[in-house]
Amino acid sequence: MEVNEYQKLAMKTWSKRLQGEEMLINGVMGLCGEAGETIDLVKKYLHQGHELNRERVIEELGDVCWYIAELATYLQVDFSDILDYNIEKLARRYPDGFSEQRSVHREEEKDED
Ligand SMILES: [Mg+2]
Repeated sequence: MEVNEYQKLAMKTWSKRLQGEEMLINGVMGLCGEAGETIDLVKKYLHQGHELNRERVIEELGDVCWYIAELATYLQVDFSDILDYNIEKLARRYPDGFSEQRSVHREEEKDED
């Protein structure tokens, strides 16, 4: 599925009760919550003897995407714009692919993590 189509379809399930900054707040809180649900599955796998629940991890990653779509909508950008921006940043940071040397000595982009 194309990401901007996903954004459009996902936002059909957005609660219109959330207006203005409520959408921003809901988006960041939901994003952190869903990332936390993902971490919990990995924690159980790594430290509590569970099998890695691959299907649940995939489900939670989808939930993360939903909140990214909400935030993109709030910011009035297409989901694809966020992905493009990230790839451009990574290309500037690691023009020849990831390098520990460039990661350690990343002086010019202190504001970007
Ligand atoms: Mg979830």
